[in-house]
Amino acid sequence: MTDTTVQKTAPTLAVFSTKNWVIQIFDEVNKIQPFDITYFEARLHKKTAPLASGFDVVCVFVNDKVDAKTMEILKNEGVKLIALRCAGFNNVDIDKAEELKMGIVRVPAYSPYAVAEHTLGLILALNRKLHKAYHRVRDGNFALDGLMGFDLHQKTIGVIGTGKIGQVFCRLMHGFETRILAYDKYPNEALKELGVEYVELPELYRKSDIISLHCPLTHETYHMINEFAIATMKTGVMIVNTSRGPLIDSNAVIEGLKKGKVGYLALDVYEEEEALFFEDLSEKVIQDDTFVRLQTFPNVLITAHQAFFTKEAIQNIAETTFANIREYLQTGTSVNQVSSKKGRC
Ligand code: NAD
Repeated sequence: MTDTTVQKTAPTLAVFSTKNWVIQIFDEVNKIQPFDITYFEARLHKKTAPLASGFDVVCVFVNDKVDAKTMEILKNEGVKLIALRCAGFNNVDIDKAEELKMGIVRVPAYSPYAVAEHTLGLILALNRKLHKAYHRVRDGNFALDGLMGFDLHQKTIGVIGTGKIGQVFCRLMHGFETRILAYDKYPNEALKELGVEYVELPELYRKSDIISLHCPLTHETYHMINEFAIATMKTGVMIVNTSRGPLIDSNAVIEGLKKGKVGYLALDVYEEEEALFFEDLSEKVIQDDTFVRLQTFPNVLITAHQAFFTKEAIQNIAETTFANIREYLQTGTSVNQVSSKKGRC
């Protein structure tokens, strides 16, 4: 825990799930009109919520659990606002926040390029087996057997969700001269002009060589990639998820990998990632057997929720988070406020 000493009148901010990179960028951006910040390494959940006693604002990240019980504790402890330093807000009970009249703000866009470019990086690395080639060459093994990939050129890419990130990803894939099929409830006219074809999900599943997920996690999208969806896909399909873990039923995708139906799987998110990601567990025995099974496949590549992690994105996250908090505390509202009426997909 680190304290940043400022004037007594400055609003107090409790930052949960703190890592060194969070402290560095928050302290940097906090130099003008500073908040009185206390950093907690702990994740926010009902047992750690009392740590926020007396703070004006609580700042959380993707794996903090802001459920109804946690929210009640925060309210009783005097917290006025929950500031998410991320885009997704599936970890927050919005209805409860509204019932308790507690503000929720988020960072809707910090760098769609960061996530879209990481998605492309995963596809290229998995296809051309760059992660294996790196180790082989360092080992003095210059053989090519087992490293064969495929051209992306003229392959069919299925993009589910063409919002800020999906849109950038479509443009990157357009550069590879691929055919792009997309599914979104709100088709994007500019993408249509680029040649992106909007189709229904069954057609996208049936025709795509690579399927990339860029829609939010909702009741509707939970486990959308399940055994039934996988059964309709091309044999050897590549599935890429840089959105939210629970979009994919991990057990179903494991069955698909075992049968050879799923040819490649790239993940930056995992449905039970809360227990794993953002921590150094290299000296621990991993207890999640599903995750460990996923890691055994030669055609699975996993990164630990790092798609957002570029210096431009982190700078934007810090600046927008502070601007959101300042605006909310001064006016009682914020352009980036999440509500059941406007912020939800
Ligand atoms: P966005 O809100 O701009 O776009 C989401 C799109 O999904 C919208 O166009 C929406 O209409 C569409 N959509 C909603 N429900 C859908 C459904 N059932 N089927 C198909 N499309 C649907 O969001 P964004 O900024 O592009 O982010 C997309 C997701 O990426 C976020 O929800 C978040 O979960 C994830 N994300 C991951 C990282 C990371 O580091 N891995 C970072 C930021 C965001």
